[in-house]
Amino acid sequence: MKILRNIKELNNELIQIRKKGLQIGLIPTMGSIHKGHLSLLKKSNNLKLYSIVTIYINPTQFNNKDDYLKYPKDRKKDILKLKKNSCDAIFFPKQKEIYPKGLKTEKKVKKFRNILCDKFRPGHFDGVTTVVEFFLKTIHPNYAFFGEKDFQQFKIIDTLNNVLKINTTIYPCPSIRMKNSFSYSSRFKFFSSQDKKNLKICVHEISLLIKKIKKDIKKINLEKYKSIIIKKGVKSIDYLEIRNEKNLSLSRTSYNSRLFIALYIGNIRVIDNFVLY
Ligand code: AMP
Repeated sequence: MKILRNIKELNNELIQIRKKGLQIGLIPTMGSIHKGHLSLLKKSNNLKLYSIVTIYINPTQFNNKDDYLKYPKDRKKDILKLKKNSCDAIFFPKQKEIYPKGLKTEKKVKKFRNILCDKFRPGHFDGVTTVVEFFLKTIHPNYAFFGEKDFQQFKIIDTLNNVLKINTTIYPCPSIRMKNSFSYSSRFKFFSSQDKKNLKICVHEISLLIKKIKKDIKKINLEKYKSIIIKKGVKSIDYLEIRNEKNLSLSRTSYNSRLFIALYIGNIRVIDNFVLY
């Protein structure tokens, strides 16, 4: 496995890859590698691509400096896990290479905005699309893999790819879930044992809600469920909504729809979504 520490090393490797006629699979991450990330790598490997995982904690996608500074980092463990899972190369870009003119972002995607995470994290997706645009334009991957756990992010990046007219296939990958059925997230590293217990109870409530939605969606009052979940140790809920997965509009049917949730346990914000069909 190659470790590429700057654009020069990346470009040298890209020349070799192209000489060998290999196709590239890109897996952008912020590190703290877990089973969710590894599932994206596995997909890329299964497609026989040369798999490049990028690890970069992108400051412009954080709304809070403290959250950015505290984001979990474990480069050694990440390298070991990726090597063990047949990653071909890891690219650790330098901040100046991505942001030569300082930490500026552009609003390249106007679709799927002002709802879900964009409503509660203004500017977050501009940070995400800025860094993903950099990776797409620098690496020119044949495929780029994104997790459905961050469903709105996947939709926005898919749109970015169309806006940029880049010849990359954006490949969505299903959420990899823990035993309690919530999706893995790097942020769980911060959870205390009490936080874990609270999450477990909350997830139980969500699974009961999903059963009821599937039975008779018309009877569901999501505002009522928000207060039920908050009583179970969740600090606050940014959103609990059923949306259509094609256009992300609010939905009153299970057909093509998912339940989207963003909640705080203690000061840690986690998101997930659940297929309803
Ligand atoms: P992150 O490092 O959190 O920015 O995530 C990097 C990529 O991994 C994104 O495309 C995420 O959607 C994806 N990802 C994170 N957690 C999971 C999970 N539990 N299952 C599937 N994909 C995930």
